[in-house]
Amino acid sequence: MAFKTLDDLTDIAGKRVLVRVDLNVPMSGGKVSDTTRIERVLPTITELSGKGSKVILLAHFGRPKGERVADMSLAPVASAVAALLGKPVAFADDCIGQPAADAVAAMAGGDVLLLENTRYHKGEENNDPDFATALAANGDIYVNDAFSAAHRAHGSTEGIAKLLPAYAGRTMQAELEALGSALGAPVRPVLAVVGGAKVSSKIDLLENLVTRVDMLVIGGGMANTFLAAKGINVGKSLCEHDLAETAKTIMAAADKAGCEIVLPVDAVVAREFKAGAANETVSLDAIPEDAMILDVGAASIDTVRTKIDAARTLVWNGPLGAFEIAPFDKATVAAAQHAAENTKAGKLNSVAGGGDTVAALNHAGATDDFSYVSTAGGAFLEWLEGKDLPGVKALEA
Ligand code: AMP
Repeated sequence: MAFKTLDDLTDIAGKRVLVRVDLNVPMSGGKVSDTTRIERVLPTITELSGKGSKVILLAHFGRPKGERVADMSLAPVASAVAALLGKPVAFADDCIGQPAADAVAAMAGGDVLLLENTRYHKGEENNDPDFATALAANGDIYVNDAFSAAHRAHGSTEGIAKLLPAYAGRTMQAELEALGSALGAPVRPVLAVVGGAKVSSKIDLLENLVTRVDMLVIGGGMANTFLAAKGINVGKSLCEHDLAETAKTIMAAADKAGCEIVLPVDAVVAREFKAGAANETVSLDAIPEDAMILDVGAASIDTVRTKIDAARTLVWNGPLGAFEIAPFDKATVAAAQHAAENTKAGKLNSVAGGGDTVAALNHAGATDDFSYVSTAGGAFLEWLEGKDLPGVKALEA
């Protein structure tokens, strides 16, 4: 897809730039406890401010559902942004109306202002055109740097983009370029690794991926549903037996599309779901009736490594086993480290994200060596499902 970036913005000194950012940061005792999301939006803020524009930040916080809920105010976040930015960040206690207009009128070129929680207004989540118009009244230009909010058609992500010249911020740009390189126009062969607990939460994702990738490794609890659909007795394993038909449909679709599905060939089983539980590796025809599969076995890990070696592009979502409880993190760690090595060696473009995946890759010490790890959660998963993200669509040039 084609979208405009900050490179297309020239002559913006003194212009009012409304920048949608993700400042939905974790708080503890009234203070920001993790600044990752703030750090991600600093490049765009710094660049725009450095070019002399008036940088007006739009963001949501929590789920106040259209009401002014005091502990969902963005006020404490303004000082956290200021501390990391190294310059003052003003705050207006409403994102529209007189408070916003007055605060914007008081700005000089290069200044940064944060407006209060957009979700204090019902018009945000309803994508009410009047609300979007009220937001747009304070800007000349709109920049969206919040990929993680782009799966929602809200006033500050979609409505406003239709009213002002719209651009992707640097973080949005990096995310779109990474995702485009993985599934848009990837270097083939493309491998997807999908794990996690349940098939039921990833049906759309699997259906999309089998039409887009050359190989699909299925691991984690969700693999059990596929194995059971093939007639394998999975004992007491997590398994959605009622989804056997869905699993068969997905396998048939993969077959038709020329996508090779790679299921585990052995399993690590235990009787208890806890760290250090006694365990053994068994072949698939020998899963004990009273045991559950908590990881894929050594032979399966070898297969996954072989597939990673055969791939030039990797898309990863979900752990291959119950990675939070050792030793059932073994396959996830081994596969993540192998992908990281191949990426470092320049042989693989690796893109990962969604839910527990970031935690799993962090646990494996692999995050820094992946080409791109998305922290966007829901938006990343919807992208894997092949859905149009309204906030991204609205940026299309
Ligand atoms: P998801 O959020 O769908 O990606 O699922 C992640 C969760 O799946 C993690 O908490 C893992 O512990 C869990 N998981 C992965 N493999 C298994 C398994 N074989 N049995 C039970 N839970 C698993």
